[in-house]
Amino acid sequence: MCVEVITTGNELMSGLTRDTNFSWVAAELSSSGIGIRYHCTVADNLEDILASFATASTRARFVIVTGGLGPTEDDLSALAASKFLRTPLVFNPAVYQDISQKLKQRGREPNIHHQKQAMFPEKVTVIENPVGTAAGFSFLSGNSKFYFLPGVPREFRHMFREHVLPDISNTAERGTVLRVRVLRTFGLGESEVAEKLRGLSTEGVNVGYRIRLPEVHLRLTASGDDSEALDSILDDVCAQAKEKLGYFLFSRQDESLEKVTSSFLLEKDLTLSVAESCTGGLFSSRFTDIPGSSAYFLGGAVIYSNESKEKLLGVSADKLARFGAVSEQVVSEMAYCARELFGSDIGISISGIAGPGGGTPEKPVGTVWFGLSHESSGTLCEKRNFTGSRDEIKSFASSTAIDMVRKFCLDYVK
Ligand code: AMP
Ligand code: MG
Repeated sequence: MCVEVITTGNELMSGLTRDTNFSWVAAELSSSGIGIRYHCTVADNLEDILASFATASTRARFVIVTGGLGPTEDDLSALAASKFLRTPLVFNPAVYQDISQKLKQRGREPNIHHQKQAMFPEKVTVIENPVGTAAGFSFLSGNSKFYFLPGVPREFRHMFREHVLPDISNTAERGTVLRVRVLRTFGLGESEVAEKLRGLSTEGVNVGYRIRLPEVHLRLTASGDDSEALDSILDDVCAQAKEKLGYFLFSRQDESLEKVTSSFLLEKDLTLSVAESCTGGLFSSRFTDIPGSSAYFLGGAVIYSNESKEKLLGVSADKLARFGAVSEQVVSEMAYCARELFGSDIGISISGIAGPGGGTPEKPVGTVWFGLSHESSGTLCEKRNFTGSRDEIKSFASSTAIDMVRKFCLDYVK
């Protein structure tokens, strides 16, 4: 079953508007076990729109078109459909009445432009729009069923769910199911993940990479008619992947690093605090985004200046002066002081140079030191050299610190 999505609009082609209709409809179809084979975006140009319809009709069983149903001159979808079908556009009084009524409810009068929204190619089926004025329509051309829906995301989504999805699902082969697993890794690049997974036997499973720096995710999909058999194939591939990736694989359920880490903290009955400098609160923010985090996250301090490191946290002035804020000696003290200040089991510290300025030959931009203090292990310190923008360095640093907590928890026995 081949589905094609055509999104139209100059605003999409110029990058002014993100094509969220496409990503939304792709996710919606995919979770119903229906894949999209083709997607194209065309500008508001009659010839190009017509060409996209002609191409789609040669290869797709279902064609979903969004946009171009508005009242203005640049909305060309109905006109293009009438040219494609070689039928005239005809006025639909019922739709016009509906539009007029909706406008009146908002205290407005219909004008000449709204008449355009009541013009449809002959013999199409009108799709009602209960949340806006632009009605959609559908028709069958050869073996291809075309659906035309408005571009406004709220209207598009509503009409797709109410009308199009049930229609496509009814026609879809009965019993076909799609099973999806997302595995998340941290600490390896894409090629290193691929290298570690060499020899993975994946018969019947499609493996795709999704890069969400600093993480690399694997999306495993399998389709067929026996959901238990699919689950068992996927379980087997997941188990092999775990074997090959070890520590680097942190979730088999598409969970965030902080969510996985928070489960470990709860399980091992450990509390956490942080003294963060270059991440500016990101570490704390990521943990506090998780409902119930107060059970293990006791607090965080953003100690940005040397003075605050000394006065608020109690880092020794001598070490700050001798080694600098971005150093093993200082993060070691910061982690210990955070643990003392908040009374937590684990104290984390992060201090680095996020750039773009402030780097030196010895400590270039992207240098970040991390500390983890716990009474059983003393203070563990690590250094990383990240590359990227300021935002990326902050994000990588917060992930690295969270991952230190995760690994500590994994090995921790009371
Ligand atoms: P239209 O139905 O073409 O008049 O589109 C109306 C508005 O919906 C546009 O101005 C955009 O803001 C929005 N829109 C159209 N197409 C998309 C799309 N593919 N994804 C997200 N928004 C869209
Ligand atoms: Mg448009």
